Amino acid sequence: MSKRIAIVGAGTAGLHLGLYLNEKGIDATIFTDRRPEEYANVRLLNTVAHHSVTVAHEDDLGVNHWPNDGYFGHYYYIGVPSMPIEFYGDYAKPSRAVDYRIYLPQLMQDFEERGGKIEYRPVGVEDLTDLSDEYDLVVVGTGKGGLGQLFARDEQTSPFSEPQRQLCVGLFKGIAEPETRAVTFYIAPGAGEMIEIPTVTFCGHSTALVMENHPGGDLEILAKTHYDDDPRAFLDLLLEKLRTHYPTLVERIDVEEFDLANGPLDILQGGVTPTVRHGHIRLANGKLAVLLGDAHATVDPMLGQGGNMASYAAHVLGEEIAGHEVFDELFCERVDARRANRVLGATRWTNYMLTNLRTLPNELVELLGAVSLDRKLADKFTDNFNYPEAQWDVFSSPENMKAWVEQNSTGAAEESERPFAEAGAQS
Ligand SMILES: Cc1cc2nc3c(=O)[nH]c(=O)nc-3n(C[C@H](O)[C@H](O)[C@H](O)COP(=O)(O)OP(=O)(O)OC[C@H]3O[C@@H](n4cnc5c(N)ncnc54)[C@H](O)[C@@H]3O)c2cc1C
Repeated sequence: MSKRIAIVGAGTAGLHLGLYLNEKGIDATIFTDRRPEEYANVRLLNTVAHHSVTVAHEDDLGVNHWPNDGYFGHYYYIGVPSMPIEFYGDYAKPSRAVDYRIYLPQLMQDFEERGGKIEYRPVGVEDLTDLSDEYDLVVVGTGKGGLGQLFARDEQTSPFSEPQRQLCVGLFKGIAEPETRAVTFYIAPGAGEMIEIPTVTFCGHSTALVMENHPGGDLEILAKTHYDDDPRAFLDLLLEKLRTHYPTLVERIDVEEFDLANGPLDILQGGVTPTVRHGHIRLANGKLAVLLGDAHATVDPMLGQGGNMASYAAHVLGEEIAGHEVFDELFCERVDARRANRVLGATRWTNYMLTNLRTLPNELVELLGAVSLDRKLADKFTDNFNYPEAQWDVFSSPENMKAWVEQNSTGAAEESERPFAEAGAQS
């Protein structure tokens, strides 16, 4: 029986699923409200780092057009007043960030060139029922706004009803790269966090700054002051705040050149309400539709997980669609169960950090302090951005944090190697 799948939305969720199904010879049609040629003239959508687990999906799908633009690890600067913490950790394999105004239309083109069909039109809730009459399964991958918002939240896994950070996000020129091409995480206790990401954009390589400002704090003004009103005044304010809260970044800024990389559309301000929704919905005709990507689970961008979760879940759903003929409640439950570990791990870890980077409890400072002193821990902590479920295992309780340090530190490895050495000596 040939299956026909309708995918609403051409973000990472919809495109990775569409490309996967296309490769398996399954008929998938994408419905989306934005044409590829429109992307070059829209405001910055986000600043998405794909970790190597996602880059591996792109390799498998034959859509990794940026194989040499990766970065290699994370620098961390944590401005704890009594004792600032600094360290660096490597990834096992590089991550990579490409402006989604380039990435998404490229993948849409890939999909269409391989015979995939894209219909350009907005889809409303009532249209989902019509689509489900025509197709064997409808997948809703419409992102964090619009359509997805109409479906019920999973209150158990959605502790927040409003954004936890006031975001000011931009692509900038005039920032020299650090010694190793890497992301830098800055934590300014009481004010916010900032993530600096080397990013491919229209003018080549630039620097994304994701400023995660605490509501009510000194940096919140960056989310409320508009570049367009007075670009020079905005840049002066930004430089002043960076000097106060993130001075180690300012050492690499050329003040004369510092500005938005491609022009006034390179800035995005606002907030994201972390939300998990039920993974599938029942439509008016009784058929089921699966939610995918941000429409299913939206996280704050602090730890760079949303796009990676979307790709992971698209892969899981693709495999399940390829392996089954019936798309009933059991099918949806199987999909939900298979993606839960990654999606909920990323959600819980991100929500933990949103809360606890504001208060910096002792166990978190101790964990970061231990990681800063041991390169093996730093590498593992950094590579775990690929595996948020493993990171959540660490952060889920103070006891687990301690246990992880004890089990994974360099000293622990030496301990565990000793019995073998001794056994060898005896034989
Ligand atoms: C500032 C910022 C930084 C981020 N950084 C990272 C990061 O470093 N790493 C990471 O993994 N994630 C990051 N994210 C999250 C990431 O952007 C999202 O998780 C990801 O884009 C979600 O993909 P999606 O396909 O679910 O949704 P989207 O990318 O939002 O795609 C939705 C699609 O649906 C279409 N659509 C919407 N409504 C309709 C409709 N009614 N009818 C038809 N089509 C419709 C849209 O046009 C679009 O094609 C960041 C987000 C932000 C805001």
